Amino acid sequence: MMSRPRACAAADDVGTTSTEPGDATSPLEPPLTGTWVQTLLGHSEDLITLLDADGAVRYQSPNLERLLGFLPGELYGLPALDLVHPEDKPDVERLMDALLADPDRAVSAQFRVQHRDGAWRWVEATARNLLADGQVSGIFVNTRDVTERAAAARELRHQAFHDPLTGLPNRALFTDRLAQALRRAQRHGEHVAVLFIDLDHFKQINDTMGHETGDQVLVAVGQRLAACLPEGDTIARFGGEEFTVLLERTTSVAAVDLARQMLAAQRAPVALPRHDVTVSVSIGVAVSGPELENAEDLLRAADIAHYKAKADGRATVVLLEQPMYSQAMARLAMKFELQPAIEHEQLHLVYQPVIDLDDGRIVGMEALVRWHRPGAGVISPDDFLPLAEETGLIQAMGEWVLKEACRQARKWADMRPDATPLRMHVNVSERQLQRPDFVDQVRAALVESGLPAQLLTLEVREQALQARGDGIPSALRALRAMGVPIAVDDFGGRHSSFSALRHDAITLVNLDRATVQRLPTEATERAIVRSIAGLARTLDLDVVAEGIETGPQMQQARAAGCRFGQGFYFAPPLTAASVAELLAGTRTLDQIVDADDAVGDDA
Ligand code: C2E
Ligand code: MG
Ligand code: MG
Repeated sequence: MMSRPRACAAADDVGTTSTEPGDATSPLEPPLTGTWVQTLLGHSEDLITLLDADGAVRYQSPNLERLLGFLPGELYGLPALDLVHPEDKPDVERLMDALLADPDRAVSAQFRVQHRDGAWRWVEATARNLLADGQVSGIFVNTRDVTERAAAARELRHQAFHDPLTGLPNRALFTDRLAQALRRAQRHGEHVAVLFIDLDHFKQINDTMGHETGDQVLVAVGQRLAACLPEGDTIARFGGEEFTVLLERTTSVAAVDLARQMLAAQRAPVALPRHDVTVSVSIGVAVSGPELENAEDLLRAADIAHYKAKADGRATVVLLEQPMYSQAMARLAMKFELQPAIEHEQLHLVYQPVIDLDDGRIVGMEALVRWHRPGAGVISPDDFLPLAEETGLIQAMGEWVLKEACRQARKWADMRPDATPLRMHVNVSERQLQRPDFVDQVRAALVESGLPAQLLTLEVREQALQARGDGIPSALRALRAMGVPIAVDDFGGRHSSFSALRHDAITLVNLDRATVQRLPTEATERAIVRSIAGLARTLDLDVVAEGIETGPQMQQARAAGCRFGQGFYFAPPLTAASVAELLAGTRTLDQIVDADDAVGDDA
């Protein structure tokens, strides 16, 4: 069906006689008709147009018909702009104005013009202002059809901004739209919400049913999510099994409401040719506000909320509240600062004495790591070790602790060649033990420092002893074979099991602080500790009562059969310099503990 373009409708208004080709009475008489130049122009790929200063067509070369379906002369006297697509018109008008303002100027542009059949064609036009040229006295326009090239470019652009599997916008397009939406929201005092949606257990689907099924599931989930979305809002495939949604002019209530609908939309199994697959999603929601006003922060906030949704048991929606965000940001900041802590020499060790409860002598020191965080003071391991584990930094940190503790122990042993040397207790985490080269690390620390293996004790938590697989048990056995004593740390809590003591690498049991502190008041606790100590004796293991803070705790621990003790009752963790003074005999333990500079935790 041919539809009449608006330009032709306009021609009716103007009157047909003045637009007839070759009309001798018309002031728009084509100047070139019938000449050999006209023949040449007819063979050109391009359409040549001459406009007057008002933009009306004065002449068009014969291939107008091939390009736009109009007969030569059909458009004479009409405003050329009438054929231009409404969306492109403002740009073309601007160019025309610029052209008219400057004689001799040339401009070019790509825009859409309407074919006689109503379809839009992409053209590339170059125009030159020859109004001042006495012979031409018009605007010369050279137009070429670039519809196919433009379509290819559009396709390329689409590919660059869309996910090939689901056809949804990709991360780049999403973040761009989010940034624009935030700017709009700020101007109008509105809010933007981001939903971060992650498919639960997707890896399992991929692993058990294959990637093809995984892809089909992703497509189906994307479609279900998109079906919930109000017109005009954006859903993107952000990466792997992650989708993001951008909601404009919204509130947290509306955003959570939509997230819940999206959750509910996944309830029915996805029907696939070979299997029906049941899926669920976890959704984090964050809404823009004074604290969250740029795209990166808002996305990160929604991501944090989605992690919380995963941690809450999956298949759920979590709206990010400000405290959660602040906490997560604080952790993130700490993580970044912790990274260079070793190179920047911000780590140090403090040493807490282990005491023989029979005679009060110091028999060993436990090395405890501290982080001097710039601007924040000394940070306890409980606050930064979980982060170090998460980032894998625990490996480098643990290696540094081992070397430093062995070096220190050797130095102290050398200070008193005739005395019984102190044992050095070093804590090691499960992650460290899992490392295949952990035994080599220990061996290297011993060799480098020259510390005999039996003077080092590695303290290992009970969970690490019970770890499945062969890695940790064989590492512990290898260490034991090297002569390194192994302690089970923090033993005796509610979840402890006697089976941990059966481990053949164990030589020492550290009774946990809470248990020790209950000894004076709870008879059951005393009975339990007596049995632990009895069993330990039978198995030829020593027991250290940790966290002794009072005389009665010390007496009860001793009465229950604990040979060694540690805790603030004897001494807090001390600096290396204080320990050196103690060993040199320049200060007693009491003097050191009473002095401010000696306690490691105040460093
Ligand atoms: P842990 O190995 O059980 O160390 C004993 C913890 O109890 C130390 O805390 C110590 O300061 C504290 N403590 C000692 N006596 C008392 C007392 O009488 N009362 C009270 N309330 N607390 C007492 P710290 O230094 O904060 O270390 C906490 C935990 O961090 C350690 O528990 C250990 O599991 C871990 N840790 C410390 N340094 C390292 C390290 O270099 N590597 C690894 N992997 N873990 C470490
Ligand atoms: Mg310990
Ligand atoms: Mg302990």
